[in-house]
Amino acid sequence: MIINNQSIQTPCFLIDKSHIDRNINELRVGFKEEWGSNVFFGYSVKTNSLPWLVSYIGNNGFLAEVVSDQEYRLARRLGFGSSEIVLNGPIKGEEVLIEALESGAIVNIDNSEEIRIIEGNLDHRHREWKVGVRFNFQLEAECPGETIVGDRCGRFGFCVENGEFERAIERLSKLNGVSVIGLHGHSSTRSKSIRVFQSISRKASELVTRYGIALEYFDVGGGFYGDKPGEASYREYAKAISDSFGEHEGIRLIVEPGAGIVASPISYLCEVKNTRDVCGNRFVTVDGSCVHIDPQMHGIVFGKNVYRADKNDVESCGRVDLQEVCGFTCIEMDRMGVIRDEVELKPGDRIEYLNCGSYSMTLAPLFISYFPRVYVKDDSKYQLVRDAWDEGDFMSKCEVFI
Ligand SMILES: *Cc1c(COP(=O)(O)O)cnc(C)c1O
Repeated sequence: MIINNQSIQTPCFLIDKSHIDRNINELRVGFKEEWGSNVFFGYSVKTNSLPWLVSYIGNNGFLAEVVSDQEYRLARRLGFGSSEIVLNGPIKGEEVLIEALESGAIVNIDNSEEIRIIEGNLDHRHREWKVGVRFNFQLEAECPGETIVGDRCGRFGFCVENGEFERAIERLSKLNGVSVIGLHGHSSTRSKSIRVFQSISRKASELVTRYGIALEYFDVGGGFYGDKPGEASYREYAKAISDSFGEHEGIRLIVEPGAGIVASPISYLCEVKNTRDVCGNRFVTVDGSCVHIDPQMHGIVFGKNVYRADKNDVESCGRVDLQEVCGFTCIEMDRMGVIRDEVELKPGDRIEYLNCGSYSMTLAPLFISYFPRVYVKDDSKYQLVRDAWDEGDFMSKCEVFI
């Protein structure tokens, strides 16, 4: 059992490369079949910005979808050309925004400060600046209970209902050498349902007509389930988007998946270090932690595989009704799930948590211990693509005055 091979040091993330390939293929085939060949994919860097992963997905023909100046520079450094970027996000630095416009990146304008920056830099323009505009509408009214914010309104983009969107289009359209050619409708939701994508696509199509936008692309955003059993497939999402948007001859669709590509191919492996009984409870302490796989402590329940340190030892093991797996931190509630009615876990046994790829590595804090290792599985070989951070890495930008 390779995972028990001691050359794989825990705690660590394991990336299954062929599983990423499968997800990418499903995505590509589904959207091409339903929308046509005019589809671009932008990988959401924030979902998991591990450099190996971002490059690998880029090598598969994806653009980098970035939401900060740092992510923009990371993508450039990882080899994305300046036009192979989708620049989104609620704060765009002036320098990055202008560089992206000048080099023909896909730029989706989010707020009026960005319009002000464009107005202030028109003199430095060497080419036509083509922009998309992110629209904000009452998605909750159309999909009750499905959005993350509920009645509190989404905070990104220009509001359609109060006229901000119309004013943004007017203001940008007046500028010489600037044209509005895109609409951006991303919204992360609780449900990730087909209905959400129907509402976003219908709204985009309605705005094109109402404001006479000469649309070249519709960026539907991300927020898909990927290959989660029982949930919508990429093909079903693509069909819903295509049908709801309606006639789209000559219009490019941009899709910005993150979790749907990287959640399922990545697991997290940790090792049992000690066990103890407290009153009627068996606590199993491992060298991993919730801070790595559920950093916001949402209480996510993960699928698990258990690997025995000594497979021959199973008979001599007792069974325990209820064992609670606990992390290496000193947080009382760093508890990584209950294993019921299983053979008794002992030091050296390993537990693999499944579907850990999205918003885990990027959100994990440097708390008590530092970033764990990451290995990529290619056929049956495991290759280290990030070594564990040590105290030297942690201190790399620090000054210590005594
Ligand atoms: C976060 C985000 C995505 C990706 O969302 P997933 O849920 O990871 O698919 C796409 N586009 C934008 C603008 C985002 O902010």
